[in-house]
Amino acid sequence: MVKKVVTDLDLKDKKVLVRADFNVPMKDGEITNDNRIQAALPTIQYVIEQGGKVILFSHLGKVKTEDDKADKTLRPIAERLSELLGKEVTFVPETRGKELEDTIASLKNGEVLLVENTRFEDIDGKKESKNDAELGKYWASLGDVFVNDAFGTAHRAHASNVGIASNLESAAGFLMDKEIKFIGGAVDEPQRPFVAILGGAKVSDKIGVIENLLDKADKVLIGGGMTYTFYAAKGIEIGTSLVEEDKIELAKTLLEKGGDKLILPIDTKTTHEFSNDGVIEVHEGVIPSDQMGLDIGPKTIELFTKELQGAKTVVWNGPMGVFEMTNFANGTIGVCEAIANLTEATTIIGGGDSAAAAMELGFADQFTHISTGGGASLEYLEGKELPGVSSISNK
Ligand code: ADP
Ligand code: MG
Repeated sequence: MVKKVVTDLDLKDKKVLVRADFNVPMKDGEITNDNRIQAALPTIQYVIEQGGKVILFSHLGKVKTEDDKADKTLRPIAERLSELLGKEVTFVPETRGKELEDTIASLKNGEVLLVENTRFEDIDGKKESKNDAELGKYWASLGDVFVNDAFGTAHRAHASNVGIASNLESAAGFLMDKEIKFIGGAVDEPQRPFVAILGGAKVSDKIGVIENLLDKADKVLIGGGMTYTFYAAKGIEIGTSLVEEDKIELAKTLLEKGGDKLILPIDTKTTHEFSNDGVIEVHEGVIPSDQMGLDIGPKTIELFTKELQGAKTVVWNGPMGVFEMTNFANGTIGVCEAIANLTEATTIIGGGDSAAAAMELGFADQFTHISTGGGASLEYLEGKELPGVSSISNK
């Protein structure tokens, strides 16, 4: 289904409810990284330019008790947003009631209001997180149209995304639209050849992603810690490498299902213990009993580079090694370089650590799309329907 985008809505004179993702990292009441606020600006600015009244909703962290409120207020976000927009942002320290309703009633076209943390509604009965029907209806009653720009929560059905969308005409914001186009597009109708690269720590975190991409992609390259569970399934000695004994049978099934499509590393960078300071060795095939694999080896980088050549769509989730340690970052760097050299391909990163790795290693500009949602992008790659996306009005 093709979803409405904010540009499909008539916004002039309208009270426009916007669900943004302002779930930013904070320390001692200070915002430590405002990327997510910056990412929400295009949609907010568009609504302002179109002469709409912007009423913003977001969650921040988890709120379980009254005591959590002081740390989880959105007030600092209103201040930062105001600086970034160069415009006053009215903050209402409530999630419902007369003050909120009166302030909305007095908003003029182009003005911006931020409602308090939607999860303050979780203290009494988890109304936000359980998508309480009355709450979604109430919030929807505050506006004329709804724009959902919070991809990071799209895998959850909450009152502030699905609840509001169920009661109002709605559309995707620019950020959400990009995620739908790139991740949804890659998984549902990829340009071929379509190569997926999957790594990260564990098979168990990625079962759904591996299964779905084995179906959809032309090739699936495996790296990272999950490699060794596949090695074990093939009867290859893995030393003290990370392994999930209870997933070896599953790995066997995936190997069978994958056949030639599924490509495992051919060499491994190993060391004695989980540390950046030990002696490093490279082994092809069998890993000695006192060694653990912490990265793919140089021949694998070469192999993966070759397998990526000519790809038209590349989806990457999960670092190839323990990239946080400089001695084991080469595999991830090598894959980033190989992807950067693909000029004809749509290249997409999904997953929190993978996105962080690409940015830290200096490759952020080399990808067509870096997904902003950790859990949401994984579930999207699994081929699951995301309630936050499906609840948006169809075109
Ligand atoms: P994402 O968040 O992108 O989905 P994951 O959380 O699955 O990725 O995996 C990231 C983690 O996997 C990193 O912290 C990295 O150190 C770890 N990892 C990668 N390779 C290995 C390995 N060989 N052994 C142990 N951990 C690994
Ligand atoms: Mg992770």
